[in-house]
Amino acid sequence: NKQVILKDYVSGFPKETDMYITTSSIELKVPKDSNGVLLKNLYLSCDPYMRPRMRNVEGSYAESFKPGSPITGYGVARVLDSENPEFKKGDFVWGMTGWEEYSQITAPHFFKIQHTDFPLSYYTGILGMPGMTAYVGFYEICSPKKGEYVFISAASGAVGQLVGQFAKLLGCHVVGSAGSQDKVDLLKNKFGFDEAFNYKEEPDLNAALKRYFPEGIDIYFENVGGKMLDAVLLNMRIHGRIAVCGMISQYNLDIPEGVHNLMNLIVKRVRMEGFLVPDHYHLYPKFLEIIIPHIKEGKIVYVEDTAEGLESAPSALVGLFSGQNVGKQVVKVATE
Ligand code: NDP
Repeated sequence: NKQVILKDYVSGFPKETDMYITTSSIELKVPKDSNGVLLKNLYLSCDPYMRPRMRNVEGSYAESFKPGSPITGYGVARVLDSENPEFKKGDFVWGMTGWEEYSQITAPHFFKIQHTDFPLSYYTGILGMPGMTAYVGFYEICSPKKGEYVFISAASGAVGQLVGQFAKLLGCHVVGSAGSQDKVDLLKNKFGFDEAFNYKEEPDLNAALKRYFPEGIDIYFENVGGKMLDAVLLNMRIHGRIAVCGMISQYNLDIPEGVHNLMNLIVKRVRMEGFLVPDHYHLYPKFLEIIIPHIKEGKIVYVEDTAEGLESAPSALVGLFSGQNVGKQVVKVATE
């Protein structure tokens, strides 16, 4: 059983060499009446929140990885054997699994995949956790209304690309930022954003936002934090909303950057609210009812970036922090 192991806790930017591949010869089997399952992992999801898990922190919502043990994360798998009444041999599932070819899970919390007429990799992205994040963050946290001005950072990624398309479907004016010209083109030409810009080429983010939002921003979907957040705070409209989804620019810093413009929350009466998608998984069936017809009718499109083979997983994960991924980063481990 090939596995991806975290060597030690990480500080600063993660490197491919912070992980290594090994082969375990421990025989995997599901003990009788154990409630467990044995999985063949097919796709693994690379997600930014995995970086904080490489640190030794206690009391975080996402537990630290254990150095010397396989990394864990969201994935799609086939059930090979089951002692759990909810899952049977042959089922496809998505949820928390190991970064390894096969996983033995003792207390499985998985979503059973009912719609197998989509590529199974979609359940690491648009039909899985990132899709739910976009849905919950936009509809539940942003209280969006038709015609509003919406700004999304890390806009071409797994979450951002969907938030932008949801906002367009509602009739909002949507602008996204991303880290390369190719991503900017993708936002405008594939995902239908009204405007997009490369934040790396804007020496003054405040001036850039003033250019794209002369009347200010009603909704900011926050994925990056730091300097971008500071600039956005200067450009919010009265009664604007900020959904704090993530702050990837801070994940590799030992001391997070200071944010200076929070006073604007008072003056502009802005609501800024963080959220964690696992609190909202009860909405998953409702989300599928909405998103599935949109995908089938071509109203929502999806871009993923697939790395082939478990060996490519460390570099794919590390690549998130330099913007190497174009769209949702997924690792294909095996065919069904
Ligand atoms: P993405 O697919 O967007 O990948 C990460 C992207 O972030 C990179 O491609 C890169 O794009 C951008 N990035 C990396 N470093 C920086 C930086 N220093 N400054 C600005 N941008 C940077 O990831 P996801 O869509 O999966 O996640 C987006 C955000 O949502 C993350 O912050 C994540 O933590 C958060 N999240 C939160 C959840 C929740 O429950 N609250 C659940 C899931 C995700 P570029 O080339 O544009 O720089």
